[in-house]
Amino acid sequence: MIPKSTILLIEDEENIRSFIATTLKNQNYKIITASSGTEGLHLCASLCPDLVLLDLGLPDMDGMTVIKKLREWNSTPIIVISARSHEQEKAKALDGGADDYITKPFGTVELLARIRTSLRHSSQLSAGIHSNAPVYRHGDLTVNFEKHLVTLSGAMVHLTQIEFKLLGLLARNSGKVLTYSYIMEKIWGPYVDNNNQILRVNMANIRRKIEKNPAAPEHVFTEIGIGYRMAESE
Ligand code: CA
Repeated sequence: MIPKSTILLIEDEENIRSFIATTLKNQNYKIITASSGTEGLHLCASLCPDLVLLDLGLPDMDGMTVIKKLREWNSTPIIVISARSHEQEKAKALDGGADDYITKPFGTVELLARIRTSLRHSSQLSAGIHSNAPVYRHGDLTVNFEKHLVTLSGAMVHLTQIEFKLLGLLARNSGKVLTYSYIMEKIWGPYVDNNNQILRVNMANIRRKIEKNPAAPEHVFTEIGIGYRMAESE
């Protein structure tokens, strides 16, 4: 079998490194490992992996520095590995150029799903088809970008302009977490203050219109302390 994609894992904890390496090898990914930021940056430059898994707590440099250095010349998707309580750190990493994050401890299914989504997004981006998919579809919900039309079980959903912009942004990036500050800037511009109240109000309104039970959403999920993630388009 031909290996699927090459993944560079930058992680200093040996247990996690070997768990991830074994898991990914079993799935036929080609895996390269590094135990420090310096080593990781070197390997990324010399071996050009398709995706980077990056632990934020490294012995020689902050994971944020690794993201910053990588992004100076490279757009390979980066998935950050971080501890549960470090929401601010994760949001910072995403705003700094990481594509997604996974929280320790995580299971195989979650890890593989994150990797598949990031690889798909990056191959769509490089093929230039990212923004051209005409319709988002998930369960009973569709978002038609060109016609500015949202339907739920075939019935039209009336959204305000801002609500459509917001839902459209999430739908175009479905499967990916978008941070509060990223969304705020995309929808309300760079000079909006960083109080998320206006975003939360709009999201509550959208959920009332598209979710059967807004308290247990099926389409747009809250990533507490970080942002929102829309279910992957089918
Ligand atoms: Ca670590």
